[in-house]
Amino acid sequence: MAPATKRKYGVALVGLGRYATGQLMPALQHTQNCQLVALVTGTKSKAALYGGRYQIPDTHIYNYDNFDRIVENEDVDIVYIVLPNSMHAEYSIRAANAGKHVICEKPMALSVAESQAMIAAGEANQVTLNIGYRLHFHQAHRVAIQVGREQPEGAVKYMQAELAFKVTDPSEWRLNKALAGGGALYDLGIYCIQAARYSTGQSPVSVIAREYKTDAELFSQVDETVNFQLEFADGAVMSATTSYNFKADRHFVAYANNQSTLEIRDAFNYSGQQLFMNGRRVALSRVVMQSLQMDAVCRSLESGADTGISGAEGLKDMCILDAIYRSIAADGRRVVIDYS
Ligand code: NAD
Repeated sequence: MAPATKRKYGVALVGLGRYATGQLMPALQHTQNCQLVALVTGTKSKAALYGGRYQIPDTHIYNYDNFDRIVENEDVDIVYIVLPNSMHAEYSIRAANAGKHVICEKPMALSVAESQAMIAAGEANQVTLNIGYRLHFHQAHRVAIQVGREQPEGAVKYMQAELAFKVTDPSEWRLNKALAGGGALYDLGIYCIQAARYSTGQSPVSVIAREYKTDAELFSQVDETVNFQLEFADGAVMSATTSYNFKADRHFVAYANNQSTLEIRDAFNYSGQQLFMNGRRVALSRVVMQSLQMDAVCRSLESGADTGISGAEGLKDMCILDAIYRSIAADGRRVVIDYS
């Protein structure tokens, strides 16, 4: 177990939807270095329900209008943004301006420019900005990160990933471009991009992508199924498929030699990952990755260590997403990724 911090840091959760209430609140019951101390919600019934369940006093419950008063709350060290994607930049910047460290859910924002503004706000206020890349703290994905760093079987040459689920509710914000920014690629493809980046230890240099629609009405505003290739400077390639219109195996595999060097089944799920190295199953212990993620952010506040999930990492992914959408718009033309 990693060393504990000198004190427990206070976390405010902003947006009490499915991920905040279903995953982060329970995970905060298992953290070593932080605890839930405040809530931000526009819904009175949620304030009452979760305030009661987690013993949050009324003085520590905010809504979206009085959110900026969080600056006065010395119990809050970290503000964790779990809102629809279009609200990430605004609330991350407001939290940074209130002098609070920020964790923002993925995808970081709606654009490269918004992501840069979030980083600038963190720097101006001398607070940290991290992205909710939970998988960095899962044992199987930590092995992938190690493979990228140490290349035990030589450099990874080819990777494949799928991540898809079915969205059926037309009122879901994920189908509204103004709120979501993009569709399956934006929401799910980012996990595939991350896996490719950490298991090669490199960022891709160019992309080729196509979008396919089978339901033009439901997916009138956002992408339904996207197939994309990330190309790396050393010739490595990642082929990935993401979709909002079928449920896929959620599989990630990386080849450095003629066997699967690393394979993670159920790779991107909340639990149940299975890791195979060179075809052999590796035993994994159960972890709550979100607890480890938040604990690591707290440790970095004292040590200054790189969390691996900084805003700078999120920004690189936004540059890659931007290039993928440009390739789709150009009917699959190769697009060089601009990281400047
Ligand atoms: P959700 O719809 O369940 O929750 C969104 C919350 O935002 C709700 O409480 C809603 O009331 C609130 N909200 C405030 N203003 C809103 C508005 N104008 N429109 C819609 N909702 C509004 O969504 P979710 O699945 O919890 O996703 C929230 C964020 O978390 C997204 O950025 C998503 O990408 C991210 N997420 C991350 C993971 C992960 O594994 N890291 C998993 C799921 C979601």
